Amino acid sequence: MAQHNCIFCAIVAGAAPASVIHDDAATLAFLDINPVTPGHLLVIPKRHASTLANPDPADGARLFVVAMQAAAALRSSGLRCEGVNFFLADGEAAGQEVFHVHLHVFPRFAGDGFRIVEGGIAHPSRADLDAIASRLRAALP
Ligand code: 5GP
Ligand code: ZN
Repeated sequence: MAQHNCIFCAIVAGAAPASVIHDDAATLAFLDINPVTPGHLLVIPKRHASTLANPDPADGARLFVVAMQAAAALRSSGLRCEGVNFFLADGEAAGQEVFHVHLHVFPRFAGDGFRIVEGGIAHPSRADLDAIASRLRAALP
């Protein structure tokens, strides 16, 4: 079901422009208008889902398969592509700005200027890792 005021639903509906690279029953892939590197694309489920809590698992599986194919296409396209990053922001705290699930796929090459700012906890203890792993095992379906 298309969501009112969702730019990606508008793209799916053909009501907003996009440079499409892949279109199937469940999935659309198109170029990002503000690319990290040339070829940066977004893969989205056509069915509106604001975050990863919502999509049909089959849509999520298809999303990843299309992203893998897009990564292979980037590598063989002639665009500069020495590596590929996937990035998915799920939730505002993770940097999500468009609330229709999308997986970023973008080419990487030496000197492209893209940096992941490093942070995080240095060398947690095995006991801490095991305690977190235990919580996650309990939370998995
Ligand atoms: P997020 O931070 O939510 O993961 O990223 C949203 C992405 O969507 C950004 O990289 C932004 O450039 C891209 N974007 C936002 N609006 C449009 C649009 O209208 N068309 C396209 N192709 N990309 C968009
Ligand atoms: Zn949408």
